[in-house]
Amino acid sequence: MDFSLSENQHKWQLIAREFATKIVAPEALSRDRIPLAKDRIPWDWIKLADEAGIRTLGVPKKFGGAEESILTMCIVGEELAAADLGFAVIMDQCWKMAHLFKDAMTPEQQLKFIPKFVADNQATTAIGITEPDIGSDHQGYYDGADIGMKTTAVRDGDSYILNGTKRYISNGCMATLYFITARLDTTKPLSESGAVFIVPSDTAGFRADFFHEKSSQRLATNGCFHLENCRIPAENIMLGEGKLIALRSQYMPGSKAEAAATVLGVGRAAYDYAMSYAKERRQGGKFIIEHQAVSLMLARMAMLIDGARLQIYKAAWLADVGDKDARVQGLIAKVQASEAAFEVCRLSTEILGGAGIMFEHPVEKYLRDAASFLHSDGTNQICSLRVTNALSGLNSAALYGF
Ligand SMILES: Cc1cc2nc3c(=O)[nH]c(=O)nc-3n(C[C@H](O)[C@H](O)[C@H](O)COP(=O)(O)OP(=O)(O)OC[C@H]3O[C@@H](n4cnc5c(N)ncnc54)[C@H](O)[C@@H]3O)c2cc1C
Repeated sequence: MDFSLSENQHKWQLIAREFATKIVAPEALSRDRIPLAKDRIPWDWIKLADEAGIRTLGVPKKFGGAEESILTMCIVGEELAAADLGFAVIMDQCWKMAHLFKDAMTPEQQLKFIPKFVADNQATTAIGITEPDIGSDHQGYYDGADIGMKTTAVRDGDSYILNGTKRYISNGCMATLYFITARLDTTKPLSESGAVFIVPSDTAGFRADFFHEKSSQRLATNGCFHLENCRIPAENIMLGEGKLIALRSQYMPGSKAEAAATVLGVGRAAYDYAMSYAKERRQGGKFIIEHQAVSLMLARMAMLIDGARLQIYKAAWLADVGDKDARVQGLIAKVQASEAAFEVCRLSTEILGGAGIMFEHPVEKYLRDAASFLHSDGTNQICSLRVTNALSGLNSAALYGF
């Protein structure tokens, strides 16, 4: 067993750290406070991230990307998120979809969509599954015919006609390319009726509605959009009819680890800030780090971060080598990292005392940001239930092929 980073991983870590500290960190706090979501989208940073190779980190080499491993994406994601979680999420949504570019698209689909995505230095991708009546139920824990996904796809000659509404979508209403789920038959469970379609944002009938306003990941958008008689060429279906669950379970093995790595970055930033503060702030005649009560909190924070990072690296490594345990380890890493990061942020507000909630310090932002991943990418309850199912071989374990 070797715990050291490869030369290449170390190189990407340094590229991302420099980008995060020089470009993102200095303005992250002030941009977070811009009132409207539409005015917060960091188009300039996306462009600069393209120049640094970060936007296309997962894109296959033959199309001009870096085609990096999931572990490298986790390393880069942690660095970016230590400066701003929202920006890291914008990039991570591109990396997650790059797995689909690489492994789930047909050669024809690759030629049709990837060069365009690469050529536009502000292009991003998104996956639209969640709807008003389906949230946790698309996480693979429930599969009844009464499942609430109402977006439908009806075959019409050489096309499918899509109708429905998607909400909460990361990069939603700002991305240029969407992977959208729909049902081909609303009398059948998702495992049989679900399909995924590739939908460029300029397709007639694709209507961006609004950005959700929110307290976390404020530089990333969560969009609500509608599909209104949206005609999609049949060749834009991914893997074929009824393959939604297969696509998510087989072709996105690193997505939970990547999400976990970003929230870990927030925890790390909170820990670093609290550590510096504790070494400078004096109360009771000494630096507060010299009070054991504070020192113990810092030790606990360091342990939580280290433990979560090990879980993430393990999940990423398993996904990279194609191990069957990658999915369950990804769920474990997502739950562990989000809970660890949230607790670290909470402890950092305690170490700062009153300063912990003041806008002069970034800690209140870290706490808001960390809260998002307790439920984003599947609530921790659902992820945990799926862990038990996977370990016990029950219900959704079979659905997801554990
Ligand atoms: C920041 C952010 C980014 C997101 N990005 C995307 C995206 O890019 N694409 C996308 O499609 N979606 C996205 N989502 C949606 C996300 O996947 C859902 O919010 C999540 O799956 C939970 O669904 P819900 O919000 O409808 O909560 P609900 O499903 O309504 O859950 C409410 C509560 O009930 C519990 N619960 C629900 N079902 C069960 C059950 N069977 N057993 C036990 N407890 C249960 C949950 O654990 C939770 O505590 C995003 C959400 C957020 C917050």
